Amino acid sequence: MASVFEGVVHPAEQRNLADTIVAAVFMGLVRDRLTKGYQVFIGYGGGFDSYEGSQVQGQKKDPSGPEADLHTELLGILSNKFVAYKDQLVIGAANKWVDASKGRRENASTSSYVITGAMSDRQVHVEMSKKAKQLALDCLNSNQKMGTLKERGAYYGVADCYNGEVFGPVATSRQVFWAEHSPDRWMNPSRGWIYTNQERNEVASGSNAKMDDTDDEQLIASGLSERMSGYVLGYCHGMIFAEHICKVFKGGTAYEISMNEQTCKNASCFGCSSFMFANGMPPSWMHLGGAQSWAPLPEKATNFGYSAHIRNDKLIVETARSMNKAWADATASWMQTGVGYTTKSPKNATLKAAFSGKSTRQIANFFLDALTIHGRDDLERILAILKHGF
Ligand SMILES: [Zn+2]
Repeated sequence: MASVFEGVVHPAEQRNLADTIVAAVFMGLVRDRLTKGYQVFIGYGGGFDSYEGSQVQGQKKDPSGPEADLHTELLGILSNKFVAYKDQLVIGAANKWVDASKGRRENASTSSYVITGAMSDRQVHVEMSKKAKQLALDCLNSNQKMGTLKERGAYYGVADCYNGEVFGPVATSRQVFWAEHSPDRWMNPSRGWIYTNQERNEVASGSNAKMDDTDDEQLIASGLSERMSGYVLGYCHGMIFAEHICKVFKGGTAYEISMNEQTCKNASCFGCSSFMFANGMPPSWMHLGGAQSWAPLPEKATNFGYSAHIRNDKLIVETARSMNKAWADATASWMQTGVGYTTKSPKNATLKAAFSGKSTRQIANFFLDALTIHGRDDLERILAILKHGF
């Protein structure tokens, strides 16, 4: 019994355990960043105007921004828990938002269309190369092209490599974790599918411009969702692939971009953020929405849509393995530190007891298992656990 979820039967208890895990990883990560002397940016950081170019952050927060009450509450709790470091916390919305009129955006209000994962100790925005910026603008203004108009929250990565090559847009791609090959993953009865409707009978595609030719996407296209058990799904977002490509090419800056003017990009999801911090390419901002069924990189060349282009399967897989290992080591460490802050949860003792004898990958997989339980946004689940334990 490798997963901490295996012995937890009642759905309410599973949800509580999932929330506890997410809150513990979050607290461990925040503590790690603060004690190393870095600022932590949480919320919506539209502070980067890539039309003007900027390497700096908006230093002020706007309390009237999105989710203002919840952010104020989070700031209060974190300032209290990390008194000595409270000046390093930047929570809320950025003080400066992009002038969208420059982007020929007709239907959307002002917002940012690109977030950064730079090879940098600090969370920074880095100016895109001319070539990458042109690609990002083409995607932003694509609208009816590529069938992406309805694709809200689209997760597309762009790798802006130091050698001058630009790759992208790289879409989110799904992975299938089979029970027989992943004995330490919890086979959540919902199997991790993201649905597009409340009736839960229409599975969301990874994205409209997804990498159709990967092994797992082909398996999904052949009707996997009708199979009722034996696997759980994972969604690897475009930003994570973009960081992978940057590492494969020995350096670069990863971006996540908007695909069409109905999407915006203000901050990385918590799943991606965990991976980005762990791999030394931190997110320009991190938001606490829903990293539903988020997963790190695949570890099989035929599950990368760009393996035919790069033509070095060994390098692709070895780079992915070492990045996933860095993510697992960091996530396990954050979770183990973080349980010191989630003591109000009735499931805290269960979680702590489950660490014994487990590898860092097995412990990090608890986090992936937790993300297969969808419902409350991460910000709400973290606040609830820290305040009441539920
Ligand atoms: Zn993400």
